[in-house]
Amino acid sequence: MAGYGRADRMDGTGAERKGMKQKYTFVAGMLFVLMAASMILTNFYVTGERSAAQADACESDFYILTSFYPMYIAAKNIVGDCDGVRLQNLSEPQTGCMHDYQLTTEDMRKLSFADAFIVNGGGIENFLADTAKQYPKLEVIDASAQVRLLDDNAHAWMSIADHCIQVRTITEQLAALDAVHADLYRKNSRQYIAKLEELQSSQQTIAARCKAANILIFHEAFAYIARDYGLTVAGGMDLDEERQIGAGEVAQLLEQIREQKAGVILAEELYGRKMCEAVQREADVQVIYLDTCVRGDYDADSYLHAMRGNLEQMKRIYESTEQKSK
Ligand SMILES: [Zn+2]
Repeated sequence: MAGYGRADRMDGTGAERKGMKQKYTFVAGMLFVLMAASMILTNFYVTGERSAAQADACESDFYILTSFYPMYIAAKNIVGDCDGVRLQNLSEPQTGCMHDYQLTTEDMRKLSFADAFIVNGGGIENFLADTAKQYPKLEVIDASAQVRLLDDNAHAWMSIADHCIQVRTITEQLAALDAVHADLYRKNSRQYIAKLEELQSSQQTIAARCKAANILIFHEAFAYIARDYGLTVAGGMDLDEERQIGAGEVAQLLEQIREQKAGVILAEELYGRKMCEAVQREADVQVIYLDTCVRGDYDADSYLHAMRGNLEQMKRIYESTEQKSK
């Protein structure tokens, strides 16, 4: 019995050994598979990274970088689906104006590869002087080079007429830098300008119905709208970023409204609503919320959409006075 038991035990130990051996083989096999998989994955990752960097520097590609949203949308219309041209925006689609923008290391990397860097100019991109120093060979396209800017105010894309000039300037500069795609840029540009001019003529029709009036603006960008509609900017403030509104400021605005007989405020909803509501509680003033076209999605038609929306809003100026006089 004991022998049997022993043998049984011995047999059992043998089976255990065999099982252990199988386990070791299985674990080793699994380890091998895991190592092989991780090696393959690492290799994929490294080649993936390398090819992204190579794509940046790829000589057959013309790499266009834009500073911020309205420049990106303009360039997108000019470039179209041009093969061999890569278009990228430096800032995020929700960044807004670049007055206080800080370049990131990723931005620097992009700038070092760019064949052309399209900017609005006129001081909107506060980092340009440093960029020019750091990348003296960078081809900077100043979209506003041919635009007559308002004093200390370069938000020229807000004027459809000025934006047409910007689009033409970008087109000609791109064509000069990238002869291979020059014809395509010009063809796309003509199509886009045609749409912009159609919008501009609708704007002129609306502007003609707006009687010359004193208005307040809550964003510098709207000085261009005021000019294009023949309205006089009697005052206002720049509510470009979130800040506390003091009671003194509201009082000052109310005084401007009374003194200048300003009946309309042009404001951006994002930063202006609080102030507008404060003013409207005290004064009979019409508020028109407009899009500054500095944020949105990357759809090629988004500038057209935003400006068309602005035209619809501006109609309210004469619609309300016509209603009042009835
Ligand atoms: Zn701005």
